[in-house]
Amino acid sequence: MRIDAISIFPDYFSALDLSLLGKARDKGLIQFQAHDLRNWTTDKHKTVDDTPYGGGAGMLMKPEPWGLALDEVLGVSPDTDATSNATVIFTSPAGEVFNQALAYELAQEERIVFACGRYEGIDQRVVDYAASKAKVRLISIGDYVLNGGEVAAIAMTEAIARLIPGVIGNAESLAEESHSGEGLLEYPSYTKPAEWRGMEVPEVLLSGNHAKIAAWRYEQQVERTKRVRPDLLPPESN
Ligand code: SAM
Repeated sequence: MRIDAISIFPDYFSALDLSLLGKARDKGLIQFQAHDLRNWTTDKHKTVDDTPYGGGAGMLMKPEPWGLALDEVLGVSPDTDATSNATVIFTSPAGEVFNQALAYELAQEERIVFACGRYEGIDQRVVDYAASKAKVRLISIGDYVLNGGEVAAIAMTEAIARLIPGVIGNAESLAEESHSGEGLLEYPSYTKPAEWRGMEVPEVLLSGNHAKIAAWRYEQQVERTKRVRPDLLPPESN
């Protein structure tokens, strides 16, 4: 998979050089490129924002640099009918909310381009133009407002990329974690020592009885999900 991100702070994306994603890039499982939106400005101050029509607080990202950036990164032009096979994701608190199901869906894409907003966001015509050249989605990482889309793009990149075969060493761990399978939260986990600061590991986990362990873990998943995230359970179990 190839992922590009367009941002006025491309240095944010150096976090993706680290850990498993850095290794996945070294192995060629994913390609990632961050682009500085200011490279597509045409004035000496490299301006990317302007005041919003209709008034209101704050500044908005201008369409011109975004148009040129998308043309180059997607390999399209306003003068031809050529389209791109990429999915352009505009990070936005006003978008559909990202979750594990969406991560699985996006992990099937060949190419993703993240458009990271700043200020009060991006001129709507940029989204409409991108939609005429590629698949477009507006995606939020949760019901809160960040200063910019970079952290959101990094979070989505990590969630998507770890689902690509070969990125996580032990693929089984993907099937057993929170939000996978039935969509329950994960059970509590313990490692050695068996007793620490007066607290003991639940006896069943030391029993060696795999059926009992599986049953205990499932009970814990249901109990935790009911307590912490009842919205994840099917309506009849609440
Ligand atoms: N005026 C916008 C609104 O009310 O929807 C908020 C703009 S926010 C200060 C600046 C940028 O941060 C957005 O354009 C978006 O790219 C990013 N952003 C903020 N919160 C986000 C979220 N929850 N998920 C994804 N991106 C977010």
